[in-house]
Amino acid sequence: SLSERLSAVAAHLPKAAHFVDVGSDHAYLPCYVCLKDTTSQAIAGEINEGPFRSAQKQVKLQGLIDRIDVRKGDGLAVVEADEVKQVVIAGMGGPLIASILEQGKDKLGRVEQLIVQPNIDARVLRKWFLNNGFVLQKEQILEEAGHIYEVLVAERQGKDIYHGDEAIRDKELLFGPILLKDKNEAFRTKWLDYKRKLARNVANMQQAQQVDEAKLASFKKELAWLEEELD
Ligand code: SAM
Repeated sequence: SLSERLSAVAAHLPKAAHFVDVGSDHAYLPCYVCLKDTTSQAIAGEINEGPFRSAQKQVKLQGLIDRIDVRKGDGLAVVEADEVKQVVIAGMGGPLIASILEQGKDKLGRVEQLIVQPNIDARVLRKWFLNNGFVLQKEQILEEAGHIYEVLVAERQGKDIYHGDEAIRDKELLFGPILLKDKNEAFRTKWLDYKRKLARNVANMQQAQQVDEAKLASFKKELAWLEEELD
């Protein structure tokens, strides 16, 4: 069965999806989606030979070669412009996901939905959405086997869920405007852990001979946000 993390990603796809899963590895996600919904079809993209072969093998094994096309290549280079309606990128760092989106911009013209699951730094993706005409619509945070994962969904259209105030927006970009409204157990665990590390960093910096003042100030600002949000 699929991991809770990938099930959470898959759950955001509509029925009759036509999507690319970039960095598909074993193609577990597209196989799961296409087995559940016989009207869905997918492209599984992989840059590396090993995972590319695993994906091919899995798609054959599941009897899905007519609906899942496994392609080798870098990021969105594996799709034609206008070929897919949804893009899934999961299990990588936020900056890598953002660079794949940035480099594949010319393929996103007709894309309606982006579903991303960054392992670190979701903020860079929230910013990318804001700057590139995608509207953050859903956010999820969950814990599985001691790891905490975030899933973000952005669409072409939708209600802007950010606060109007710039100062508050910066905070929302870090924590997630939707996640901030709920603050579940996984959210608290993630940010309490981060707060401990940050407090240690700030204490160390304050004792150091030379200090990057700008960095210290930004850490202190984050600490203040954490104080506000975690009680
Ligand atoms: N998406 C799967 C998941 O969430 O379980 C696999 C995640 S795995 C940690 C990351 C995969 O992305 C690897 O198989 C790697 O080869 C692939 N990858 C990394 N950079 C890529 C790129 N620029 N284009 C396509 N695939 C990439």
